[in-house]
Amino acid sequence: ERLLDIRKHNCNPMTMKVTYYKKPVFINQGHMQWLWDVDGRRYLDLFAGVATVSVGHCNPKVTEAAEKQLRRLWHTTPIYVYPQIQEYAEKLVSLLPDPLKVVYFTNSGSEANDLAVLMARLHTGNFDAITLRGSYHGGSPQATGLMSNTHYKYPVPSSLGCHNTMCPDVFRGLWGGSHCRDSPVQTIRECSCSPGHCYANDMYIKELKEVFDTTVPSRIAAFFTEPIQGVGGAVQYPKNYLKETYQLVREKGGICIADEVQTGFGRTGSHFWGFEGHNVIPDMVTMAKGIANGIPMGAVVTTAEIARSFAKGVHFNTFGGNPLACAIASSVLDTIKEDKMQENSAELGTYLLTELAKLRDKYEIIGDVRGKGLQIGVEMVKDKASRTPLPQEAMNEIFEDTKDMGVLIGKGGLYGQTFRIKPPMCITKADADFFLSVFNQAVLNYTE
Ligand code: PMP
Repeated sequence: ERLLDIRKHNCNPMTMKVTYYKKPVFINQGHMQWLWDVDGRRYLDLFAGVATVSVGHCNPKVTEAAEKQLRRLWHTTPIYVYPQIQEYAEKLVSLLPDPLKVVYFTNSGSEANDLAVLMARLHTGNFDAITLRGSYHGGSPQATGLMSNTHYKYPVPSSLGCHNTMCPDVFRGLWGGSHCRDSPVQTIRECSCSPGHCYANDMYIKELKEVFDTTVPSRIAAFFTEPIQGVGGAVQYPKNYLKETYQLVREKGGICIADEVQTGFGRTGSHFWGFEGHNVIPDMVTMAKGIANGIPMGAVVTTAEIARSFAKGVHFNTFGGNPLACAIASSVLDTIKEDKMQENSAELGTYLLTELAKLRDKYEIIGDVRGKGLQIGVEMVKDKASRTPLPQEAMNEIFEDTKDMGVLIGKGGLYGQTFRIKPPMCITKADADFFLSVFNQAVLNYTE
């Protein structure tokens, strides 16, 4: 009876959590890139609890560090100083460029983004924020206020002072071109750009200037972007977009915030942070998810100057950066390095993207393959010419079929039209090949 209820509402009636599948999966156990359900069926997990379990489920090294800390000290209050928070803060900021050297720990990505808004307002004395249409920044009232897409939130007013600019989506956006984005694979759209000069970029910058001129004249506090959109479906921007927008925002007195909740910690392969792929240094970086491999934790890292404006008052949270979370996060950083997970993300990401692009060329309903490292999107369309999003029934059929063949992937995009692949960064080439054959079969089953 309960199962029927779940199917009807697409929601677990007891916990009110959204369930993805028509036939829900009851997960019982995990090890590295593998999950087992209550019946002992094994799944290759290519979604990693939404790009979170980056070093693998119950990674033995991290589990050992957690066990050690569990026997020493779980929690105290940040009123005291304890070695775990000092050591981890130092380790974390050593991975960020100057002047990003002060960290504040939170419990989630939403909380980190809320805090970033507050810090930006305190520092600039301004109120408004600009975000990209299609972005995702969290589920708290402030974070939902940063987002315009009602697929990700209830369509009720949630926050004042946020403006959206057009999402510079090279595939689905109004303008785009084949050489505009930083990915091993390019779009199949015709390109109207000349080498070295991106027409799409010019148009999106023009649009942002219009937002400034017409809606936020000189009152901007913050400009929020994900270096590669996550929930939005691995959307990538023209190569120079962030560089030029950062300059514009700073001229207007605002600060630039990189939401690295999904793209941080080596996920994009070639760089540890997504922003590094855009040749910019933000004024503030927010992070969560992969930071502690599934233990609730988040952080805001910013400059000493911005931190000084924030330190004039009091801000408190109970759990942020507690000894257990810090010990686990510290072990996650060591594991990424020792086990060359970022390198693996780069190598297998390029392999998967290259092979998926072959499927894109084979099937009319695969419109675009994009991303970097293990932050991959496969956008599904009715046909390549119209780029109309593939209807949800079709998406669900392929999604369900993939799961029934033993692989878990994600779904997202502005219209729910993009499959998302963001596995633990320990997957192997054999896992990638298994997924490719399963996905090929699922698309074939649908098209036949
Ligand atoms: N920012 C981005 C880019 C995210 O993907 C998410 C979560 N999907 C968040 C913020 C919010 O993080 P959390 O769910 O930990 O609050």
